[in-house]
Amino acid sequence: MGKIIAIANQKGGVGKTTTSVNLAASFAVLEYNTLLVDADPQANSTSGLNLDPKEERKSIYNCMVEDINAEDIIVASDFDNLDIIPSHIDLVGAEIEMIDIEDRETRMLKALEQVKDKYDFIIIDCSPSLNLITVNALTAADSVVIPVQCEYYALEGLDKLLKTIDLIQSRLNPNLLIEGILMTMYDTRLRLSNLVVEDVRKNLGDLVFKVIIPRNIKISEAPSFGVPVIEHDAVSKGAVSYLNLAQEILKKNKIEVKA
Ligand code: ADP
Ligand code: MG
Repeated sequence: MGKIIAIANQKGGVGKTTTSVNLAASFAVLEYNTLLVDADPQANSTSGLNLDPKEERKSIYNCMVEDINAEDIIVASDFDNLDIIPSHIDLVGAEIEMIDIEDRETRMLKALEQVKDKYDFIIIDCSPSLNLITVNALTAADSVVIPVQCEYYALEGLDKLLKTIDLIQSRLNPNLLIEGILMTMYDTRLRLSNLVVEDVRKNLGDLVFKVIIPRNIKISEAPSFGVPVIEHDAVSKGAVSYLNLAQEILKKNKIEVKA
């Protein structure tokens, strides 16, 4: 049974897509069969795995709004053990189209239940919003990873996200766990980065992952080649840190490391 992990934070630019693509790729490299679900209409995870988001292709939108089978929209990526359910700009309209549907919060759950058995991990890249699609992702997920950028206003908005997670736990998905808070874009040259990590650890303690993702040029270059960082430069600090994150999650969940 696949473990479903949503990558969520309603703040934009904190590293959700980067974490989704590279965590999924790390699990795949460790030989876990992995599915990346792009649940953001901006479709950055889709293009990050070298699929043109403008191309006519069925997406998570068709699954949620039109009841198309998830199996029929899964695309094999260029990388071993890594499949993707792409996104499409159409997803922007899904929220309004779903407003009258009775089970509108559980559409993604139902879609992913059809394929959950085929994967070890399913990673959902959420949009920068707490909209109905994100609610669907959190309802479908077993756990959530929250990327937080190492910057001055790091904790801003986190309250609202944690409250939303609380609400989802009490109304829609009692099993939802916080997998961890992930500090991203850490800059060793900046004292600020250090202070932010200290502050977040002081406030949130054990919820914060031990692994910290450094700001790394290879990470930001990789999407322009349509590849995860591990494919772009396997020995870069960025690639190694995402591999370490995958290992930390395996350890936390007492899942045996294969590779
Ligand atoms: P989100 O999905 O939360 O909006 P992204 O993952 O798209 O955020 O990241 C925002 C920008 O920051 C992107 O241009 C991405 O390449 C860059 N970025 C993210 N993480 C890193 C990192 N660790 N090092 C360097 N650049 C990064
Ligand atoms: Mg994104």
